Amino acid sequence: MKLTRFLKNGSPTPGLFLDGDTILDASGFGEDWNEAFFGHDGLARLRVWLKEQEDIAPRVKASEVTLAPAIARPSKIICIGLNYAAHAAEGGLEPPAEPVLFSKATSAWCGPYDNLVIPRDSAKTDWEVELAFVIGKHAKYVKESDALDYIAGFAVHNDYSEREWQLEGTGQWVKGKSGDTFAPFGPFLATTDEVPDPGNLQLWLERNGETLQDSNTSDLIFPIPHLVAYVSKFMSLLPGDVISTGTPAGVGIGFDPPRFVQEGDVFELGIDGLGVQRQVAVKEH
Ligand code: ZN
Repeated sequence: MKLTRFLKNGSPTPGLFLDGDTILDASGFGEDWNEAFFGHDGLARLRVWLKEQEDIAPRVKASEVTLAPAIARPSKIICIGLNYAAHAAEGGLEPPAEPVLFSKATSAWCGPYDNLVIPRDSAKTDWEVELAFVIGKHAKYVKESDALDYIAGFAVHNDYSEREWQLEGTGQWVKGKSGDTFAPFGPFLATTDEVPDPGNLQLWLERNGETLQDSNTSDLIFPIPHLVAYVSKFMSLLPGDVISTGTPAGVGIGFDPPRFVQEGDVFELGIDGLGVQRQVAVKEH
């Protein structure tokens, strides 16, 4: 299944992509795609509902609605830094000996086609296409061999970052990772059965039509099962939580001279089988 959400009368409404442009309106299921849904076996219940309702539930055209983030705002967004060797090198850094973790404020959560809002006083806003996954059930001290059982599905995430605030001030990366609209998520969450090999997915990003990032999740230094085991040592992962697996080379700070987001820039980014996002950069008022 491909879970999505779209705005109906201004409110996020759950849906399921049936094909590239057809969304089945799943509001009749009566639940949002949130912690309670994932935590109470929602995907299994949704499959049963879909079998019964697929022929009769109303449809909308994706091209005629505004997409919301593919799942409801999670309890936390945990990101992995420097998880591609070439990306670590472009930042002048050694590949890390263990995963680098940081968090992103959940208020950054937004739809896959929402405008990117360049924050006030930002000169160094940057892009990061990433494969993200969503936790399907409470996860703590998970073994690598069991890790995939804890994943509900996969999606595209653009881990927008303000480099000055991330790297040049004091304290943690969270300051540079948390701007409003810095976490576009979607256009859909593909359940694990739709993604036979998440460790071999091409991911790419274009800025104004120029390809800047083009890599494969086979280059992840720490693969997905290791990330689930590692992060769940330090904290409970709750149903619906998001882990973003890191970005490959080709971000703005890696160029000489660096390139950062300019007002009016158009970003298109995608991952094999997980759809395409598009954002236009605007300035905060
Ligand atoms: Zn990132």
